[in-house]
Amino acid sequence: MNKIAHLKVTCPQCGEETSIYVVEDGGSGAEVKCEHCKQVFVFSEGMEYEPVAYVESIPYWAVIPKADEEKIFSQEIDTNTSELKQRHGCLTTWLILLVIVNVGVAIVLMLLDNIDTTSKATYAMNAIIIVISVILLWNWKRIGFWIFVGVAVLGLIGSLLTGDYKTAFQCIIPVAILWSVLQRKKDNHPSGWENMK
Ligand SMILES: [Zn+2]
Repeated sequence: MNKIAHLKVTCPQCGEETSIYVVEDGGSGAEVKCEHCKQVFVFSEGMEYEPVAYVESIPYWAVIPKADEEKIFSQEIDTNTSELKQRHGCLTTWLILLVIVNVGVAIVLMLLDNIDTTSKATYAMNAIIIVISVILLWNWKRIGFWIFVGVAVLGLIGSLLTGDYKTAFQCIIPVAILWSVLQRKKDNHPSGWENMK
């Protein structure tokens, strides 16, 4: 069995003196880990070091995962972090469109003179809530969908009460589209809905 040497070197990453553990297998250059910054660097023969002792095994913190272990580790990250979740192109497009249209309409209405302040406030409020729900959906928060549904339901009730069936219909369409794009799967990845928490 190869001997494991415990040495002290200065970490090239953080400049602190760290213990390193090198297996004496005759190879030049070994990957070692700094105890302070936990970064991996190559211990090469040219490096200055101070021998400490020979040891039986490498301490847990100093073990560098092998390539295949790292792969498993990164796959775990894959399913746990939102950045790496696959967003279907239709969902991305629809979310961006929702923000552009709602904010755009709100801005245009603000600039018009023949619309009363209450309506302006309602449209502005509506745009802000839609943007919030889109931001939540973008970050894989399912609550964003329910906020979106809530706004649509309020709009629907309001329109039905005033007998404005065209607007009532227009309230349902975006929810239906959002729902359908959330169900789409990219390749074999989970759908947007399944990715959400
Ligand atoms: Zn370091």
